Amino acid sequence: MKILCVLYDDPSTGMPESYALNSLPKIDKYPDGMTLPSPKNIDFNPGELLGCVSGELGLRKFLEEQGHTLVVTSDKDTEGCQADKELVDSDIVISQPFWPYYLTRKRIESAPNLKMAITAGIGSDHVDLQAAMDNKVDVVEVTYCNSRSVAEHIVMMILSLVRDYHNQHAIAKSGGWNIADAVKRSYDVEGMHIGTVAAGRIGLDALRKMKPFDTHLHYFDRHRLPDSVEKELNLTYHEDLDSMLKICDVVTINCPLHPETEHLFNDERISKMKKGAYIVNTARGKICDKDAVARAIQSGQLSGYAGDVWFPQPAPNDHVWRDMPNNGMTPHTSGTSLSAQARYAAGVREILECFFDGTNIRDQYLIVKDGNLAGMGAHSYSKGSSTEGSEEATKYKK
Ligand code: NDP
Repeated sequence: MKILCVLYDDPSTGMPESYALNSLPKIDKYPDGMTLPSPKNIDFNPGELLGCVSGELGLRKFLEEQGHTLVVTSDKDTEGCQADKELVDSDIVISQPFWPYYLTRKRIESAPNLKMAITAGIGSDHVDLQAAMDNKVDVVEVTYCNSRSVAEHIVMMILSLVRDYHNQHAIAKSGGWNIADAVKRSYDVEGMHIGTVAAGRIGLDALRKMKPFDTHLHYFDRHRLPDSVEKELNLTYHEDLDSMLKICDVVTINCPLHPETEHLFNDERISKMKKGAYIVNTARGKICDKDAVARAIQSGQLSGYAGDVWFPQPAPNDHVWRDMPNNGMTPHTSGTSLSAQARYAAGVREILECFFDGTNIRDQYLIVKDGNLAGMGAHSYSKGSSTEGSEEATKYKK
């Protein structure tokens, strides 16, 4: 079989010769008891760069020993790109949300042999799920592999926005010492109302991690959490999103992108937020209307916006979030720490082993199977596509 793997570019200075840490901490299971990816074997050193082209997710030896062909490229957006050329006779395509190969209907229909699209990470919105269902292409992702990595990033972003870390660091770095400049937008998080849109793996973990800061915690979700969890975190549940938005100082967005959540945060919704609130969005860029966010930052309706997700990706160089005031944006990194890479590379290997052995892929990993939403996907996603507009990724110039 032919496996096409679309990964982000290597470091600009080449692959590292050594790493900051010699090993990763050992984690046995996720907080709800789900086991970590459990392939029969791995051919990589956990803690090394695996998500870039030369890292190959550590798959080459395993695939080639079984007689399969592995093609790895980062060239994914322009007309005639290598990914499009290789896709037409591929059986499996692997892509990462950080550098998504947008599997539009046109691309899916160009690949008659395509059987499965694997997301090396979480969030399969870069695949036209409707087209995948129509063409019997299964879609799977490595559920939970980087959820906690993202929750850590959210905590970092909430603290850095509210305390105005970026500004203070810039002052120190440029040789300055004007304390008044450094603190004129700096507050404590303690006592603030923090709300998450969706309390799934990431949203709930972010709430748990914010609890020790003595904050008031809120959530909005389609399903209610168990009573015991609400009590443990002293959580306020909101049946209606707007009721949560009007009292929260910080809103973190943690739902998947699907047709129901696309542009959930538009001008109208942002106008219903508490004046001067902060948004941290590590879910997907397209859940927010980018221009509405920029307008709200300019007017002061929002005090700050941070996150690591954009639409499309890579974001065009002139994307309005790159240089709007009071933003704490990073490129899409929260779920691809070296720690997370080890987990999702192992998860991809586990999925491929099951596929080649003809055994069941875990239900937890399934998004689309046999032409329908399935497993975890049936719970968290809705039918349709969120890939429209992804061709704008061609506007990014290195
Ligand atoms: P989960 O499936 O555990 O949680 C998703 C939650 O979103 C579920 O509780 C689901 O609710 C809820 N949800 C779905 N639709 C809606 C809606 N319309 N309104 C309110 N809530 C909704 O996934 P994770 O927490 O692990 O990941 C969430 C998302 O975060 C991913 O889909 C991905 O887009 C993004 N992500 C980003 C990463 C990054 O690197 N920045 C890395 C990993 C994930 P219910 O099931 O109750 O219906």
